[in-house]
Amino acid sequence: MQKLDEKSCELQDVKSQTQTLFKIDENSGRAQSIKFVASPNCDSREAGVLPELIVVHGISLPPNQFGGEAINQLFTNQLDPKADPYFEKIKEMKVSAHALIRRDGEVIQYVPFHDRAWHAGLSEFKGRSRCNDFSIGIEMEGSDQTCYTAYQYAALAQLVKSLWVAYPSLKRHQVVGHNEIAPGRKTDPGPYFQWGSLNRLLEKNS
Ligand SMILES: [Zn+2]
Repeated sequence: MQKLDEKSCELQDVKSQTQTLFKIDENSGRAQSIKFVASPNCDSREAGVLPELIVVHGISLPPNQFGGEAINQLFTNQLDPKADPYFEKIKEMKVSAHALIRRDGEVIQYVPFHDRAWHAGLSEFKGRSRCNDFSIGIEMEGSDQTCYTAYQYAALAQLVKSLWVAYPSLKRHQVVGHNEIAPGRKTDPGPYFQWGSLNRLLEKNS
């Protein structure tokens, strides 16, 4: 695959219009107006442990193919191993994320935000291991070989800001890539993810 110039993934026009935040119901832990597909791959956080960190991931299934139902199927343990050779390798994985942002900016939620999704695996943040315990995981549909879309950055910023409001335990600007908490093991969201663009969107008032 042709290698991209990282600069070509920078957002040309970081939209300045204000976006309505998602309303997150504190009892259900679900964002209103977002499609919810329940994943069984989750459990409760330990008593007294609150989300402090947001982890950004990248995922595409099959790798480098976008669209389709495979991510939903993976997170609901319904992946058909015969549908693609790659699925055979991952069919036993019990994984999830709290939310997925598709290429067109659509957000799908899988796990209540106050519960523990199984997204980070073996991981460590500032000396603290088991990042699933105290984080919220957001998948961006994409890969290490492509730019993410402007729609995705806008939706990600909107979701992160909504979570900051709903969960005051989340530390502002404590948003990291999966690669940062599992170095050597994970590379997502990949070299073309534009942290500068995300941070500019997060700094805008909403
Ligand atoms: Zn990841």
